[in-house]
Amino acid sequence: MTSIFVKIINNEIPSYKIAEDDNYFAFLDINPLAEGHTLVIPKKETDNIFDIEDENYKGLFLFAKKIAKAIEKVIPCKKVGIVVIGLEVPHAHIHLVPINTIYDIDFKKTKLKLSEIQFLEIANKIKQAIQ
Ligand code: 5GP
Repeated sequence: MTSIFVKIINNEIPSYKIAEDDNYFAFLDINPLAEGHTLVIPKKETDNIFDIEDENYKGLFLFAKKIAKAIEKVIPCKKVGIVVIGLEVPHAHIHLVPINTIYDIDFKKTKLKLSEIQFLEIANKIKQAIQ
């Protein structure tokens, strides 16, 4: 079955896109733990991240690194935390979450409610900081 993330890649469902290339796609998490919480996914649909073949797996993490560096530049935070969970959406994805303390990356936390304008502003800031 086609995952919701494939629909996002194909623009059938809107997203606050950060970046894409031939193999990878990054967009803001719709229920963010923090401003700048981003999901990085491979375009090829695979559920378990550890089932991704090596070259694509390495590429995914290198793509995520580029996005994390951009987030660090424009979102005030100590670090960008990186987490893989994948219990909700069966399409491998890396969470990049700006954090100041360990509690900022607690997925049980109440998620932020951001307006469309806030999402767009955050996405634009990150996009412009990508090198
Ligand atoms: P996980 O599978 O790692 O447990 O969590 C999936 C993540 O995807 C959640 O943080 C959730 O907010 C995010 N998510 C689920 N559906 C959508 C969607 O349609 N758009 C966006 N941008 N994020 C989504």
